[in-house]
Amino acid sequence: MTDTSSAADYRDYLHRYGLKNTRHRQLILQLLLASEGVLTAEDIYQQLCEQGTEINFSTVYRILENFTQKGLTEKSFLADAHKYGFVLHALGHRHRLICLRCHRIVEVDHCPIADFEEQLADKTEFSIVGHNLEWYGYCPECRKQK
Ligand SMILES: [Zn+2]
Ligand SMILES: [Zn+2]
Repeated sequence: MTDTSSAADYRDYLHRYGLKNTRHRQLILQLLLASEGVLTAEDIYQQLCEQGTEINFSTVYRILENFTQKGLTEKSFLADAHKYGFVLHALGHRHRLICLRCHRIVEVDHCPIADFEEQLADKTEFSIVGHNLEWYGYCPECRKQK
């Protein structure tokens, strides 16, 4: 989806996840698509207020919980902020290490390919809206047992 996505694109996107199209849902989806990382409900609420959208914080939170229930977003705990953040599931932005033995997952916050992605977007003229990176291996505990 590009920056010029129409309201119809957002409507289709919501429908794909079995969500009814509302203006507030569209606005939140738009922010999530434009985001480069995990957004908290507070972030989204603040951005909507800055845009001049009249919305309650509880509505923002309810919509995000609803998105997560339907699989449109994923909720992840932000340890340093002590709150939950939301990121699009299908068009995610995450980097993680996965242990093949115990299936432990270590999230990597730093984006190692931001520059590469920019070049790639230039070269291919794609409007890139997300990526997921996974490294597979064995965690320290599993290595000890081997
Ligand atoms: Zn392991
Ligand atoms: Zn990244």
